[in-house]
Amino acid sequence: RTNNLQGYAPICLDFEDFYTRRLYLRIQDCFGRPISSAPDAWFDVVERYSNDNNKTLKRTEKRTRCLNLGSYNYLGFAASDEYCTPRAIDSLKRFSASTCSSRVDGGTTTVHTELEECVANYVGKPAAIAFGMGYVTNSAILPVLIGKGGLIISDSLNHNSIVNGARGSGATIRVFQHNTPSHLEKVLREQIAEGQPRTHRPWKKIIVVVEGIYSMEGEICRLPEIVSVCKKYKAYVYLDEAHSIGAVGKTGRGVCELLGVDTADVDIMMGTFTKSFGSCGGYIAGSKELIQYLKYTCPAHLYATSISPAAAQQIISAIKVILGEDGSSRGAQKLARIRENSNFFRSELQKMGFEVLGDNDSPIMPIMLYNPAKIPAFSRECLKQNVAVVTVTFPATPLLLARARICISASHTREDLIKALEVISQVGDLVGIKYFPAEPKKQ
Ligand code: PMP
Repeated sequence: RTNNLQGYAPICLDFEDFYTRRLYLRIQDCFGRPISSAPDAWFDVVERYSNDNNKTLKRTEKRTRCLNLGSYNYLGFAASDEYCTPRAIDSLKRFSASTCSSRVDGGTTTVHTELEECVANYVGKPAAIAFGMGYVTNSAILPVLIGKGGLIISDSLNHNSIVNGARGSGATIRVFQHNTPSHLEKVLREQIAEGQPRTHRPWKKIIVVVEGIYSMEGEICRLPEIVSVCKKYKAYVYLDEAHSIGAVGKTGRGVCELLGVDTADVDIMMGTFTKSFGSCGGYIAGSKELIQYLKYTCPAHLYATSISPAAAQQIISAIKVILGEDGSSRGAQKLARIRENSNFFRSELQKMGFEVLGDNDSPIMPIMLYNPAKIPAFSRECLKQNVAVVTVTFPATPLLLARARICISASHTREDLIKALEVISQVGDLVGIKYFPAEPKKQ
């Protein structure tokens, strides 16, 4: 099979080069390229090339319309929308692109207060606070919630923003096996001397951090079991819903709604606006006391410029559409569509013999490549046929667990998905990643 891969000569110089920086530098994955349109179901990828090994400055640009299988545009709001876009434009005209000020100075507009009320209501918590970036929401909030003398127990596959927030907090960090409540319990038991009254436990505070849907795995959190372990050991639950809010649950309210968990049992609900809502920023939702405390103490609230009013308006409008408050049924249709699309695509890939990670209903579906050397071929061969995929390996995943991480959107049509399946199937044969026998096609 490797004979078919001429043109993908070994790109390694040594171990470190191959497996880390140079691999990414040389792949020129389609998502490393500029994009010249909205990240909707189809988008324009700009290829820049020179025919002289980059030695001349003379470069040619080519725009290619590609089927987008990589953006987190789960509900299709990251495109012109009849309800959201005019409202975001009005906000842009009224407030300008930036508040040029932190929240506690001149950076709280009426749109910001409306956004926080709207998010709190939507996720089912008494209050919420919004930040300009999802990454910063995790990395800046954890150090405010906990410090030296505290214990963070983190899922082994948590996002880098959580890892950095945990490290920056100064708390002790323990990791539990990915999405395994029994191992979480084991770690908790080791940390709290068994049989002792709670008041004698050695930690000032314990926070267990999990994600709603894991971004590199497509797996849905085993939240009901995790919540019950945390209740037993009186640990706080911190839930990052970056990929689940808006994407799963009957009304898009995330994994609590999907799995029937009472939001009162999740102490800190974190999420981002950068996926399902087609905007930017992040939020923390929780009790009034918690949010009040964060507003007085969190440096990212006190010292950073607030989220752009137009971006905030986009989120409010998207939530209104999801809840049908725009007077249409588009929100419900989008939610039904993302579920249908995700389940169809996952089951078709599995029938073809691919190893696909993740759970039903999850719009993230990693196709396992394993060997990172297969990344360039997979990505480029798909792009040649106008299908843009994201491929990942170390450090985002373990070294030999490279994968193509497909993200499905409600804006993909059935024809889009069928085209994508045809291309992925051909490329899968070429690079040799159909690890299971294909299911015979029904006549
Ligand atoms: N948490 C998780 C689980 C993520 O996957 C991401 C990024 N995709 C973030 C937080 C950071 O969010 P943002 O991209 O909105 O900064």
